[in-house]
Amino acid sequence: MPTFEGKTALITGGNRGIGAAITRRLAAGGARVAITYARNKDLAEALAEQIRREDGQAIAIAADATDATAITDAVDATVAEFGGVDILVNNAGYADMSMPALEDVPLEVLDHTIAVNVRGAFLTAQAVSRHMGAGGRIINIGSCLASHVLSPGLTSYAMSKAAVTGLTLGMARDLGPRGITVNQVAPGSIDTDMNPADGPGADYQRSQNVFNRYGTADEIAHAVAYLASPRGCLRHRRHAGDRRRIQHLTDISFQPQAERREVAAPPFRHARKGIPGRSVMGTTRPGGPVHPDE
Ligand code: NDP
Repeated sequence: MPTFEGKTALITGGNRGIGAAITRRLAAGGARVAITYARNKDLAEALAEQIRREDGQAIAIAADATDATAITDAVDATVAEFGGVDILVNNAGYADMSMPALEDVPLEVLDHTIAVNVRGAFLTAQAVSRHMGAGGRIINIGSCLASHVLSPGLTSYAMSKAAVTGLTLGMARDLGPRGITVNQVAPGSIDTDMNPADGPGADYQRSQNVFNRYGTADEIAHAVAYLASPRGCLRHRRHAGDRRRIQHLTDISFQPQAERREVAAPPFRHARKGIPGRSVMGTTRPGGPVHPDE
C-alpha cells in the first residue's frame, strides 16, 4: 500500500461514493484529507469524524463546485488547516441519469453538468496549483463515456467528461514543468448512488463490460492511490519517454468489450489537401491547415 505520510489530499465530493472510497484509501495511507461536499454535510462530517477517531486528520468543507468563491475558500481552508495541498482529486460530479432525449435536455441541466464536471474541476485545480509544489499530484475522475457512449441520453454528461480529458492533457502540459503530474482515471460502471448496480439500466451496462459486472468504488480508489503515490511519477516518466505527444495521461477504464478497437487517425492528411469544411487544430488559413506540431 502506498504511503502518504506527511501529504495533504483534497478530494472534491469526498463524502460518498467513489470520492469517499478515495478519501478512506488516502487516509489509510497516512494522508491528511480535506473533503468537500455540496449537499450531504452529515455524510461528510461523519466520514471526517471516523478518520479522526482512527488517528487520522480530516476536515469536511462545504463547497459547491458551481461556486468559484466557495472553491477558492475551500482550497484556502485546506492550506490554512494543513499547510498546503500535495494531492488533488477532482471527483465531484453530476449526471442527469434520467437520460433525456437530446431535444428534451433542459438548459439548466446542461449548464449544471458543465459547471460541476468541467468548470468546477478547472477552478479547483487552478486554485490548488497556486499552492502545490514539485511532486504534486492531480487526478481527475473522467469517465469511459468520454470515448464510448453506450446509450442515448448521455450527450451532456459524455461531453463534459470528454472535456475532463482535455483538461487533464492541458494541465499536464501546464504543470509538468513544475514537477506536478496530472492524470485521469476514467471509470466504467461503478456501483454508487449515481449509478446503482440494481438500477434500471444496470443489466445492460453489465452486459457491455468485459467482466460482466460493475466495478466498485474501492477499485477506483486503488487506481487513484497509485497515481497519487511517488510511483505514479514513474509511470508519467515512462509515458513521457515513450510517446512524446501523450504525456501524463493515464486512462484506467473498465472498457466495454464491444467498443474495443483502434482509434482512427485524425484527418490531418486530408486536411492538408484543403478539403472544404474540415476543422483542424492549428488551422491558420483556409484550405491550408497547419498542424501545431509541424
Ligand atoms: P455520486 O452521485 O455517488 O457522488 C457524487 C459526489 O459529487 C458527491 O460527493 C456529491 O456531494 C458531489 N457533488 C455533486 N454535485 C456537486 C456540486 N455541485 N458541488 C460539489 N460536490 C458535488 O457519484 P459517484 O461517486 O458515482 O461519482 C464520482 C465521480 O465519478 C463523478 O465525477 C462521476 O461523474 C464519476 N464517474 C462515476 C461513474 C459511475 O458509474 N458511478 C462512472 C464514471 C465516472 P453531495 O453528497 O454533497 O451531493
